[in-house]
Order: sequence, then C-alpha cells, then structure tokens
Amino acid sequence: MISGALNDVPWYDQEIAHPNPHPGLPGSGADELGPFAHYADHRASGHSVEGLRMKQNADQRRGLAVHFTLLVAALLSAAPAHAQDPLLAGAAKVDITDYEAGPANDPMFARALVLKHGETTLVLVAVDAVAIGEIGPIKNDYLPTVRSRLEKELHIPPNNLLVNASHCHGLVCRDVADRTIQAITQASKNLVPVTVGVGSGHEDRISENRRLKLKSGREADVRHAYALPPDEEVAEVGPIDPQIGLIRFNGEDGRTVAVLYNFACHPIMGVPGAANTADITGFSSRVIEDNLNEGKDGPGPIALFLQGCGGDINPVDYKAVDHPRHAEPLGNTLGLSTLKGLRTIEAKPDPRLTVLSETLTLPRADQEERIAAQEAELRQLLQSLKGTSLNLKTFLPLAVKYNLAEEFPSYASHRYLHDATLGRSDFAKLDEENRRNLQAYLQNILTMEKLTRVQTNLALLRKHQASLIASGKRTIDVEVMAVRIGEAVLVTFPGELTVRIGLGIKKTSPHPRTFVAGYTNGYIYYAPTAEQLKNVGGAQEDSDCILAPEWQALFEAKVADMLKRL
Ligand SMILES: [Zn+2]
Repeated sequence: MISGALNDVPWYDQEIAHPNPHPGLPGSGADELGPFAHYADHRASGHSVEGLRMKQNADQRRGLAVHFTLLVAALLSAAPAHAQDPLLAGAAKVDITDYEAGPANDPMFARALVLKHGETTLVLVAVDAVAIGEIGPIKNDYLPTVRSRLEKELHIPPNNLLVNASHCHGLVCRDVADRTIQAITQASKNLVPVTVGVGSGHEDRISENRRLKLKSGREADVRHAYALPPDEEVAEVGPIDPQIGLIRFNGEDGRTVAVLYNFACHPIMGVPGAANTADITGFSSRVIEDNLNEGKDGPGPIALFLQGCGGDINPVDYKAVDHPRHAEPLGNTLGLSTLKGLRTIEAKPDPRLTVLSETLTLPRADQEERIAAQEAELRQLLQSLKGTSLNLKTFLPLAVKYNLAEEFPSYASHRYLHDATLGRSDFAKLDEENRRNLQAYLQNILTMEKLTRVQTNLALLRKHQASLIASGKRTIDVEVMAVRIGEAVLVTFPGELTVRIGLGIKKTSPHPRTFVAGYTNGYIYYAPTAEQLKNVGGAQEDSDCILAPEWQALFEAKVADMLKRL
C-alpha cells in the first residue's frame, strides 16, 4: 500500500489528491542487449526496448554487454566529422514504472535521445518522474551514477548529459539509474543520419496560471493543500506559455526517429481510481509515438517531453469536484497539438550541435524575518477567531434557507404578513439574529482557510531555513546548460522556473527558436521571479524556494552570456 506513504512524503504535498491505494503488480521486463551493429545496419531495429525481456543467462548477458559497450564507445569517440556530415540521432525508451507500488494506469518511461556530430555527443533523457534528486523516488546519487557510467562505458563526457524530469508525480522503480543507462545504450545503438526540423505548436486549452493576484496586493495559489481564497478577493491571474517548442529528427527514409517537445505545465492531474500514472505528458508522448509515423513500416518515433517553466502553471480544472479528474484528455489534447505543430515543420540537413554546461553560484534566501512575520500573522488570525452560537449542523441548513428565500427565509410569506398585521416583528428579529450568527460563523471559516494557507507555507519556509542553517553556506551551485541543436537552442535550470522566467528568456534571446527547460540536471525547488519573491509566505512557489531574489538577474545574465556563445 502506498496511499499512506505518499501522504507522508514532503514532495507529494497534496499537489495531487490521488494517492495510489493498491498493492503490487509484477515488475516489467528489462532491456535486452543485442550485439552491436553499425548504425546503418540497424535502421530496421526497434527504437523501443519497452517490454523486452532478458533471454540470455546472466553470463551471456555480461559478455555481450561488454562487447556491445566497447563498440558503442568506439563509435561515440570517432574521428571529427566534416561540417557537411549529417547529424546522427538514435532514440530508445525503457519502462521505469514501480509496479510494486500498486497498479499502474499507464507506464512511466526513461526516454533517451543520443545526438552526435563529429566529436560532440549530446545525450538527452526525459524521465517521467517528479524530480532528478532531492524529492521523490529518484535519489541524489542518480545523476552522478548515470554520468560516471556513461563516461566509463560509452566515453561520453559527463556534462554532455541533459536529464529532464516531466514533474509528474508517478512512482518509478528503484533501479531507475540502471534502466536510464539501458535506454541511453540502446539509443546509441540506434544512431542513424538524420535531418532536423525546428518549430513550434500552440496549446492554450489545458493549462492555467495558478498564482492569483489578490485585491490586497498579496498573491495566493491554486493547490490541494489548502482552500482557494474567496472569489471576490481575486483581482487578476497571470500568463501561461502556450508554445510547444518542437525539434524533430527524421531518418533518410523520411521516418521520424525522435521528437523533442517542450511545454510548461505541472502534470499533476492524476487519473480516476488514483493509480500510478505518468500523467498528462505520459499520455501526450503516447499520442505522438502512436500516430507520427502512421502508415509507414518500421519502428515508431520516441517522443521526449521536456518540462518547461511550469513552476506556476497548473492543469485547468485542477480543483474540480463535480467530475473525476483525468489527465488523459488533457494529455491527448497536448499530443494532438504537438502533432499538428510537427506537420508544419520541414526537416533539413543541419548538423549543428553545441553543448555548453556551466556552474552558476546563486544566493540562498535567509527567511528568518519572513518567518517571524508569518508567525505574527498566524497569531493574529488565531486571535481573530470569535465564539459563535452556531455549529456546522445548524449553520449549513440556515445558510441554505437564507440564500434560498432572502425575504422570507424562516417560514412561508403569509406567516410574516400575519405578524405584520398584528404589529409584531418576531420573525424579522429572528432573521436578523440568524444572519448575524451566520456571518460570524462564515468569518471564522474564512479565517480558518487563511490559517491553513499561512500555516502550510510557513512550514515550507521553516523547512528551507533549517536546511540553510544545516548547509552552513549562503550560496548554492547549480548546473545551467545551453545547447544548440540545428536551428534550436535550449536552456536548462534545475529548479521549477515560473512561466514569466521562460517567457522573458524567449523574448530577449538573440535566437528565434529558444526553448527553456526547468527541472533539469538536479532539483532546487521553485524558482519564482524576484517580484514574486516579495510575496514569500503567500504562495507555494515563493515559499517552497531556497533562492534569494537576486538569483533571477544572475541566472538571466548567465543565460544571455551562454546564448551569445551558441
Ligand atoms: Zn511543482
């Protein structure tokens, strides 16, 4: 049973109210390592290694694995190519679902894409998981393990690996690092010459900005961890990014080998029945993979989803209570819009491949004062709770009556008229008293809702303040990547970038096709704008954050510098 366990882990944090209640199913098959053949001979082999089972015994497997690895390494460290040589691309996916955690509605995958031109190799991995380390099932040793094995076994420089987490809240298996290596190794084996197409799709029906600007000047957010603020307090909502950034890689036969698609949205809708799921972006990848090469023989493409700046972007209807929440229709919509965008893109020979990976030192926030302010607000809210005559049992029917019949709520109209003819006003006075009590009780409820928001966000501030003190450091080093793939450039960051950061980078970039992926090569919680950080304590993004406001200018300067060098 994982229902209780999920509610206990801090990253789960009720972003999704779909704990998985059922015991395990059998595990998935592992990748079968076949003998290596040159990419040209391997065009007809499957890109997907999903569901394949080990057939050899352990000794045979080991022998073949060593043989295969040496050959792949030899290919990956080949002599420099000429500028006119084609880009090589190979892709594969491996099932990483934790089948022991309970029933899976749909599988989670590690999808790998290996790109190579001359001496430059770039490995992109898209993982259906909440984060790369720090929170959730993927531990902090995952990235160093995958990188050192890549270097040892495939001679790929560790910093030429880009791993993006979709941020779905599905549960992945414990040997996810091994399976990631399997996917990358298989992708290396599938290398073929490709043309590259870059463009974008558009989807504005499935996401919404979850930060709500209040009339008070503060901001609240849309979460399952607490109630929404009252409708009349909400003044405005923020933007979304409807762009789907697209890069497609076509083989010489015109088939699409792989698609990279970049979009900003928390994939946290869940599925009815609360089974394990790769959520919205798992469904969208499936739609793309099932339909893109339709009518053509041979393997389907691998669709790698790269989560964008989804820090404050939720699925629409995230708090719906009138129908079961379901990620599949949203994912199918995203998948179809991606396919629509892909149809407009022409793939051309363009072997440009550049990889920059650099460390950026960012200041951490000291939240001592903000914590004190939030604690004071908590005390003030508590003290404002007043004794009331009503309880829930008497409040609910009164609330219905007084909203149903404003003029004569307590009985039929003739009774009021009868009183009036006799010069009495007993019913009118009763109504006055009831209305006063209803208002007092309602005020307590609204205060209670506010208390839950302040208390939940205060807990996040306290957690990060404790970690700041324990670290003994006022800064944190993060990895920023900037890569060029043909016409496209892609910038990465390990935090949950809010959408305005991504929109800003796209606007100011010197490259027309600039895409931004948060949640990449590590996890450092939310990364809201300096402006949003004035609201610390008010919304999850500004409270579940370890960065000081100055981080934004430093990051944007770093990105501008790296973009110039691409
Ligand atoms: Zn998140």
